[in-house]
Amino acid sequence: MREWFSRISLLVVAGLKFGKFFGTVGTMLLSIGLYALAYGWRYAVGIVAMLFIHEMGHYIAARQRGMNVGMPTFIPFVGAWVELKDRPHDAETEAYIGLAGPMLGTVAAIAAWYLARDGGVHWLLAVAYTGFFLNLINMIPLPPLDGGRITAVLSPRIWLLGVPIIGALLWFHFSMILLLIAILAFPHVMAALRFDKNHPANQAYYDVSPRVRWEYGLLYVGLIAFLAFMTNDLDRQLDGVRRSDVQQTESGTV
Ligand SMILES: [Zn+2]
Repeated sequence: MREWFSRISLLVVAGLKFGKFFGTVGTMLLSIGLYALAYGWRYAVGIVAMLFIHEMGHYIAARQRGMNVGMPTFIPFVGAWVELKDRPHDAETEAYIGLAGPMLGTVAAIAAWYLARDGGVHWLLAVAYTGFFLNLINMIPLPPLDGGRITAVLSPRIWLLGVPIIGALLWFHFSMILLLIAILAFPHVMAALRFDKNHPANQAYYDVSPRVRWEYGLLYVGLIAFLAFMTNDLDRQLDGVRRSDVQQTESGTV
């Protein structure tokens, strides 16, 4: 496990260097190019736009809180991130920055969905679906995912709830990205197990009023409910689109 972990860490460091070298625009164009080869260029541009807007949510929130933050970097087929150069001073700041990404990302997905619905544009509907789905996955309560950053304001112990969720997803829908998330989450799970809220450093960092905890808790649960509903709804709509496409092709050949 330890060797695996150091290998993955090396990979992440290499990714960060790669990002610095090519910058936001370079990694963004590379992502669009590679997604385009796999899924077609319109969908590729849409997906990278969804990722960019989500990351800008984190970026703007971090700047609002006076933190030093880099512009987004993209890694094709993995996603994107912004690098925080300062550590947040408290759990509320961390939750604020964590929540801002999925919030703005959700607004972007709603906009795509609205435009697609109006014009009956199927590729845009697929972009909206992917937007809702990616933001939903990001709400799993386990760092490095945004859900882990948000729920830290309640208690890092909540991260333990993320373990069976990631486990079930890996079991039923295995993917390398999920495996990477699980490996990166491992030290956070250990931290959650060892978490001592009476430790002086933790008392200072997690000193948040019950009211603020409730606000973040409600926003977190509310956003998950909305994203789950939209993901499920668009999944069914896209299923209908695929079926009618097949029917059209079939009737066309008769
Ligand atoms: Zn995020």
